[in-house]
Amino acid sequence: MELSNRLMNLQPSATLAMSQKSSELQAQGIDVINMSVGEPDFNTPDHIKAAAKQAIDENYSRYSPVPGYPELKKAIVNKLRTENGLEYTPSQILVSNGAKQSVCNAVMALAGPGDEVIIPAPYWVSYPQMVLLAEAKPVIVEAGMGQDFKITPQQLEDAITPRTKVLILCSPSNPTGSVYSRRELEGLRNVLLRHQDIVVIADEIYEHINYVGHHESIAQFDDLRDRVVVVNGVSKAYAMTGWRIGFIAAAEWIVKGCNKMQGQFTSGACSVSQKAAQAAYEGDQQCVEDMRKAFQRRKDLIVRLIRDIPGLEVNDPQGAFYVFPKCSGYFGTGDGEYTINNSTDFAMYLLEVGHVACVGGDAFGSPECFRLSYATSDSYIIEACRRIRECLSKLKPI
Ligand code: PMP
Ligand code: GLU
Repeated sequence: MELSNRLMNLQPSATLAMSQKSSELQAQGIDVINMSVGEPDFNTPDHIKAAAKQAIDENYSRYSPVPGYPELKKAIVNKLRTENGLEYTPSQILVSNGAKQSVCNAVMALAGPGDEVIIPAPYWVSYPQMVLLAEAKPVIVEAGMGQDFKITPQQLEDAITPRTKVLILCSPSNPTGSVYSRRELEGLRNVLLRHQDIVVIADEIYEHINYVGHHESIAQFDDLRDRVVVVNGVSKAYAMTGWRIGFIAAAEWIVKGCNKMQGQFTSGACSVSQKAAQAAYEGDQQCVEDMRKAFQRRKDLIVRLIRDIPGLEVNDPQGAFYVFPKCSGYFGTGDGEYTINNSTDFAMYLLEVGHVACVGGDAFGSPECFRLSYATSDSYIIEACRRIRECLSKLKPI
């Protein structure tokens, strides 16, 4: 007996795996600083928790409608109108079990055997795996540090074939923190206008963690809007990763397709979490700004500290809560016990010798880099960078 081919070929999530490994070491009493998984270290704001408690008392305990409660969908429609200037109707919204399920639904609904899905690299670890689950082909377009990890219109044009069904675009980006400007999005849109059959999955889960100003969505272009699946949710903006609420906003035929998928896979998202998410969207937004400011301060701190570490190179990210430094200068070095030949070796060395958990760049399609999540306190950031500097200083060419 064995698992299906589909599963045999699936890679486990490297971000969750590193986080798990770091928890195991912590359970053994080792003082590891976990900068692997990307989730806000803040608690969910009180008014959101209060709404969830009230929902329990009001017996929101039954199956919810598959696409989400009408009142949550209405709150999302309002959010898209007021924050993003985008007009949608409630029937164009589908609430899911986190933005992860939203992306997966959309990939499954749109791509299948013989189809190609363009994924700019560095990419979030789950995109290519979702495409493989759909039995479609990921087409990776590489954007290096020199181009701030963003693809150009020409690169997009070159990657398109008659089989291209979907482009997955993530801005602000996990793992690089890069943010596409309106002009840059316009360049991609101009290419997409020449290829009318391609749908864009625009993952905007880091919308509010932006250090350069207002979020720009590729859905803002009216001539593209019908072909954009906007993905967003409450996980990052409202420190609600465990509540598992995300959504898509898209043309009705896509929403209906995703609804059918979700109806067979998981049904409607958690009833109590939906009421909490509604409170998040309808309540005071000051908490979002307070967290954004804290992330910005930490970003400035970590970029400064990493630039001080010999052999590492880092961009100044414009959003999200990750830095993605280049560590390839350390390939071909060792400390006598450990040898570093790639970013996985590098990440294991930082974990086992430096006691800092990060994620190697291989899983993000960028083997010369590694990712640190700085959604942690200033004191942990300072201590983690001290440890990284110290353990790297022991490495000598071999
Ligand atoms: N997209 C990206 C780029 C992410 O980093 C994450 C974080 N897990 C998700 C989607 C999924 O978010 P959620 O926790 O809402 O499923
Ligand atoms: N998005 C987060 C990360 O990249 C959470 C982990 C995951 O869902 O993969 O670390």
